[in-house]
Formats: sequence, C-alpha cells, structure tokens
Amino acid sequence: MAALPADDHGFRLQVRAWLEANFPHELRFPTRRLDFRRSMDWHRKLAAQGWVAPGWPREYGGMGLSAYQQVIFSEELDRAGIVVIPNFGITMLGPLLIRFGTEQQKAYYLPRILSGEDLWCQGYSEPGAGSDLASLRTSAELDGDHWVVNGQKIWTTMAQQATHIFLLVRTDRTVKKQRGISFLLVPMDSPGITVRPIDNIDGYSEFAEVFFDDVRVPRDAMVGEVNQGWSMAKALLGSERILLGSPKLAKFPLQRLEALAHTLGLFEDPVFRDRYVTLAMEVEDMVALYVRLLEVLRRGESLGEEVSVLKLAVTELFQRVTDLLLEAAGEYGATDAVLQLSDGSTLKPVNPYYLSRPATIYGGSSEVQRNILAKALLRLPG
Ligand SMILES: Cc1cc2nc3c(=O)[nH]c(=O)nc-3n(C[C@H](O)[C@H](O)[C@H](O)COP(=O)(O)OP(=O)(O)OC[C@H]3O[C@@H](n4cnc5c(N)ncnc54)[C@H](O)[C@@H]3O)c2cc1C
Repeated sequence: MAALPADDHGFRLQVRAWLEANFPHELRFPTRRLDFRRSMDWHRKLAAQGWVAPGWPREYGGMGLSAYQQVIFSEELDRAGIVVIPNFGITMLGPLLIRFGTEQQKAYYLPRILSGEDLWCQGYSEPGAGSDLASLRTSAELDGDHWVVNGQKIWTTMAQQATHIFLLVRTDRTVKKQRGISFLLVPMDSPGITVRPIDNIDGYSEFAEVFFDDVRVPRDAMVGEVNQGWSMAKALLGSERILLGSPKLAKFPLQRLEALAHTLGLFEDPVFRDRYVTLAMEVEDMVALYVRLLEVLRRGESLGEEVSVLKLAVTELFQRVTDLLLEAAGEYGATDAVLQLSDGSTLKPVNPYYLSRPATIYGGSSEVQRNILAKALLRLPG
C-alpha cells in the first residue's frame, strides 16, 4: 500500500482524488445499493490499492487507519456516491479471525477476503432465534474428522451470492444455551446446502433462507474451541453495533435530501429549513459520539453497553431523515420515479426510505437496545 499523508486533511484530499479518478461515474449514487456481484470490479480495484479493509491492522493487509481516519475514509466514499452492501468478510469475519483464529486460518482466509475471492455471509439468525439468538438450534455433530451440520438460517444477507458462510451452531444441548454454541466456517457449495431467496418490500432479494441437510465440514473449520462460539461472537458485538450505528447511515440520506431540496427549491421554505437543520445537527451529534467510541476501540479497550445508544439513536435518526426525504419528494415519493437532481445525480426517493426501515431491526432491534440500556446503564430491573 502506498504511503498516506499523516495529517487528516492531506489524507482526506488524497482519498478524494483517488476515488474521483477510480470509481466509475455510472455507478455513483445508484438507485439501490450495489450487491456483491455489481461491486466486484470495484472491490478488486480497492484491493489492488490496498484499501479494502480500512480498520484491519497493516500486518494483515489492512490500511491500519486511526479511528478518525476511518470516519474520513467513509465520508469520502459517501461523498463520491459509493453505496455498496457491506462485505461481511471485511467487517465481521476478518476482525474475528484476527482476534481468535489460528495462524493457519488467518494465513488462508484473510488474503482471500481481501482479494474478493471469498465472499462471506453471516449465518446467525434462525426462525425462533433472532433477538434471542442464543436459542439457535442449527446443530453440528462430530462424525470422525467432520462436523455434520443440520438446520436452518434465515435473513442471511447476500447468501445467494456468497461463496462462504460463517455460522453459529449448537454443539452441546446439555449445558446452558449460551455455553453450547460454536463458530463454523462453511463453503456455500458444500453438498446439502439449499438457498431460498426472500424478496424484500422493494422487490429485490438481498437476503435468503439457508437450509443445511447433513452438510459435512472438516473439523478444523471451527474458529476457537468447541462451545466458545457465543463468547467470541459477543466479543465482537460491540464492533458490529458501532458499525451498524455509523452516522453515515443518516448522513448519506441527509446529503441526498439536501440535493433534492436544492433541486426543488425547498430551502426557500423556512419550515423545511428548520426541519432540515434540526436533523443535520442531530447527525453531527452522532458523528461526535461515533468518533469518541471509535477512539475507545483504537486504544484496544472494549466498548461497554453505551454502544447501544449509538445503534439506537442513529438508526432511528436514519428513519426520520428518510421520512423527511420522502415527504420532500412530494408526489414522486409515492412512485417508482427516478428523479434527475440539479447536481447531476439521480435519486429514487422511496429507496432510502425502504433501506431505513429494517435498520431498527437488524443487529439488535431498538426494543432490545432499550432493554440493554435500561438494565446496564439505568440499572432498572430486568
Ligand atoms: C435487512 C435485514 C438483514 C439481515 N441480515 C442478517 C444476516 O445477514 N445474518 C443474520 O444472521 N441475520 C440477519 N438479519 C436478522 C436480524 O438479525 C434479526 O431480524 C433480528 O435479530 C431480530 O430478530 P427477529 O427478526 O427474529 O425478530 P424477533 O426477535 O422475533 O423480534 C420481533 C419483535 O419483538 C421484539 N422483541 C423481541 N424480544 C424482545 C424483548 N426481550 N423485549 C422487547 N421486545 C422484544 C423485537 O424488538 C421485534 O420488534 C437481518 C435482518 C434484516 C431485517
């Protein structure tokens, strides 16, 4: 990876210039986010530049960016209109392997995640095990040198395009439910796996059901010890929540709202202006909180339950921003219309609205975050 300027402003300008020169214009501000297939060429370009994994340490092929630089990097992606479904290998599995994987697992999997050769999906949720994830029933039983997996996962984002899935599986039914869970790595082309895509409200299938019928995986495909899966997954929940609580979720549609408002002349209206500025100030509050929490992670400390404040506040703010976006679009908000904006970009107002709806469900619903905060921070009875 080429050396990057140490000062934040220089770093920002260099990232901006490179994105400007390298991200294809026709893919900017897409009317729906780019899936694994549509973003693969872009992933390879980032990989060649050494810029796929901003938060990973450099020794594993990441950019080793400071917390604040990660925010800058993400802001510049937004500025350039780069909207891609998160790569779960980069955001979730990589950090888990770096922390808990064997040297062999790290050496094998991490470069394949970076190159885009392996595309991972996350197999945690099941029918009957979402908020109460520890009730999961998909099982893995040892048979000689193989684990044999049986059961079903659901809401698995991008299962239909992924090459691999990381799974939480039950390996012991006799102990407390959290203690009998393990973490397995499974190729999606293993015999016995069936993927059934689920259409979302937008008419696309971004997620799927995944069925496992006597699927055999080698014994060394387990990360960590048998029955240690829950504590490993939990150790990374903080980093998942901080990712899902990234203020870019709200900041990006706010920028689109601003472009729409300029196009329709809405800033002339003092009521609209007031509503817009209130949301913009809330977004900046979230950025400040986010940077503070990233700094905690950067110091190598774990995030406490306070990270739930971020996930809760940002996802609900995301919805309020897209509510106003839809309202501001007037009659176009209720149709499939793709608007041409005065800054040259296009916008389908209903898409950010749709995208914001499940944000208060995945990664721990708002109700669950409130329960956590009530118990851990406010010390209310459980
Ligand atoms: C767009 C999207 C993508 C997803 N991608 C993935 C993925 O890639 N991989 C994966 O494993 N999962 C994924 N999920 C699943 C997600 O993690 C679950 O939907 C989530 O954990 C909630 O579980 P559930 O859907 O079973 O709802 P439930 O847990 O059944 O909850 C239903 C309702 O009850 C409320 N509730 C539940 N328990 C409590 C309680 N104790 N107190 C108060 N209220 C409660 C919830 O807040 C919710 O309103 C995705 C979900 C969505 C929407």
